Amino acid sequence: AAMNSAGAGSWTASPLVAGTQPAGEKIAVTNPADRRETVGHWQASTSADVERALANAVAAQPGWDATPASSRAALLEHAADLLEARMPAYMAMCTKEAGKTLADGIAEVREAVDFLRYYALQAREHFAPIALPGPTGESNQLQLAGRGVFACISPWNFPLAIFLGQIAAALAAGNTVIAKPAEQTNLIGFAAVKLMHDAGIPQDVLQYLPGDGATVGAALTRDPRVAGVCFTGSTETARLINRALASREAGPIATLIAETGGQNAMIADSSSLPEQVVKDALGSAFTSAGQRCSAARVLLVQDDIADKVIGMLAGAMAELKVGDPGLPSTDVGPVIDTEAKCVLDEHAAKMQGSAKFIARATLGEGTQHGTFFAPTAWELKSIAELDREKFGPALHVVRWKADELDALIDTINATGYGLTLGIHSRIDATIDRIVARAKVGNIYVNRNQIGAVVGVQPFGGQGLSGTGPKAGGPHYLPRFATEKTVT
Ligand code: ADP
Repeated sequence: AAMNSAGAGSWTASPLVAGTQPAGEKIAVTNPADRRETVGHWQASTSADVERALANAVAAQPGWDATPASSRAALLEHAADLLEARMPAYMAMCTKEAGKTLADGIAEVREAVDFLRYYALQAREHFAPIALPGPTGESNQLQLAGRGVFACISPWNFPLAIFLGQIAAALAAGNTVIAKPAEQTNLIGFAAVKLMHDAGIPQDVLQYLPGDGATVGAALTRDPRVAGVCFTGSTETARLINRALASREAGPIATLIAETGGQNAMIADSSSLPEQVVKDALGSAFTSAGQRCSAARVLLVQDDIADKVIGMLAGAMAELKVGDPGLPSTDVGPVIDTEAKCVLDEHAAKMQGSAKFIARATLGEGTQHGTFFAPTAWELKSIAELDREKFGPALHVVRWKADELDALIDTINATGYGLTLGIHSRIDATIDRIVARAKVGNIYVNRNQIGAVVGVQPFGGQGLSGTGPKAGGPHYLPRFATEKTVT
């Protein structure tokens, strides 16, 4: 079984590399909601594991590539069925290892299932040879094939959905995959790879290498046997990976598909409905404890409704239930680890001196032993005062005047990030103007600034926020493949 049904304390993770046995020391994993509770243990990959995994992946790739795309797709669909059947167990891990609320856990598993099914469909569609018209007497065909070995390097904030999404796309396209989870979510990553093996993906086609980014991640990206890297994480790490790939002196010119950070704004003009703005700002800034790439960090409110919105925001924040993510009544759970909490505490201390305090939610009972940060909001004079992205439930409010709208969008664009933008307005011309001017990947109008339904709302940014193509969109899978023209 992927997980021991005895539950907490007994979950384990170790490298899954055909032909090696785990040799690293056992490291305890604690529950973010109560750091006194050990929920499992994991073992890091050794350099021998990395070497063996690369050799296995190279050897297995031609056979996997020769497997019909429809057969690869069928295995992914089988994995989706298994994951649906095991949903409660995976949700429990999301709560115990990543501090996810039950609602987030459900969304996480469903999104992973959607990715598996979507890339399976995409494989069936794109891998059918395309006949191209040509001169009489010649036939021309475009075919797709796998690139080779793909390294999938994942973040902790969607330890199942992003992780399995990356893996599914790379596998569907005919690549063998070496998957490296984030250091914070090894148990979930291990269970996810086990699931894929249970579904029939061969052991050497998908291997699992938990470990530090700076050791295991770096070892993969500098190795000439890796043909492509699919990465989600910070912009800084994407640059490091880009550099590692660029300085290789052998091997293919590698492909990098990177999905990185944001500095996301929500704009509300004076035609918008304050109740709606507050509800959506709260949902966008504090869902998943603010630890989503799409999360709104700054709410830009037109001055004539600003006092009303800020007052209502403070009122709504007082109602937030912060505490045990395993309870259905909880709105906001803990942040991922001690380091994240420290960064947020430091940010709060800095804001204390420079910004105007709006409100802070109260921590619920039993939170004293967890890595909790109470959702907090401050008012700033301008977006320029916003520092670099801090993942967590921290919201900033800035007022603007009617004649400043274009300049405001330019300031957002000037951050260089371009992931999500929220717009609240009842004036079509204003919405169109913002949409046209904003350099961002995903725009949410008069709704919550989160959500990226696979196949319907392709997700991803531009500039410092990523290379594209968008995950869950029609152009994603082909980027993992190479094209052959047969004339
Ligand atoms: P975050 O700030 O969201 O934790 P990171 O960019 O630090 O994002 O981490 C995302 C993923 O990148 C993790 O799996 C991490 O281990 C990996 N990683 C970190 N540094 C490197 C590196 N130098 N090379 C390859 N992968 C790395």
